[in-house]
Amino acid sequence: MTDCLFCRIVAGEIPATVVTETDTTLAFRDIDPKAPTHVLVIPKEHHTAIGDVDPALAGEILATAHQVAKAEGVDESGYRLVFNTGRDGGQTVFHVHCHVLGGRGLTWPPG
Ligand code: 5GP
Repeated sequence: MTDCLFCRIVAGEIPATVVTETDTTLAFRDIDPKAPTHVLVIPKEHHTAIGDVDPALAGEILATAHQVAKAEGVDESGYRLVFNTGRDGGQTVFHVHCHVLGGRGLTWPPG
């Protein structure tokens, strides 16, 4: 058993509301949503942060994120993809994940 929360979601050991999945990625709803659409897209394979992910897999994460935006109906109105990375980036779960945020006007800059 791994102590990585998102690996445990991939393994089905911790429940999550799955939105879509591919062979290499899983998309599920954030447990504490910050916008009407707040979905996390992760690689099924464990990598700590985006800098550890090879470009092909990074592309698959982005393609899944775009699919999610379309399925959630926010691709026309607009949405934001965020990879919080490391301590100063605000990363709290150290299995790389792309936040897909949309469904309201998002302010800039982020806090
Ligand atoms: P980070 O702060 O690392 O960029 O984002 C981690 C995200 O994971 C947070 O938005 C947090 O709400 C979400 N999260 C933490 N624990 C769980 C969980 O058990 N299930 C789900 N679905 N999301 C979680």
